[in-house]
Amino acid sequence: MSEENSRWLCHVCGYSSDIGTGQACAECYKICCRQHLTVTGVYNPESGLYELQQICVECQFKKTL
Ligand SMILES: [Zn+2]
Ligand SMILES: [Zn+2]
Repeated sequence: MSEENSRWLCHVCGYSSDIGTGQACAECYKICCRQHLTVTGVYNPESGLYELQQICVECQFKKTL
């Protein structure tokens, strides 16, 4: 099998596609599909601004524990 297309796989649900690119979680850097990524505002003390980060459901779940 050749790898001419960069196929990505969601580490949460196992969904795989070669259409577009998978989004990487800002916490664990694993690839996720859109359904399992949530955009959250993370406060950056250096800039004093809230930055939007894409976090997967697994990391989000860990944060709420
Ligand atoms: Zn998924
Ligand atoms: Zn994650």
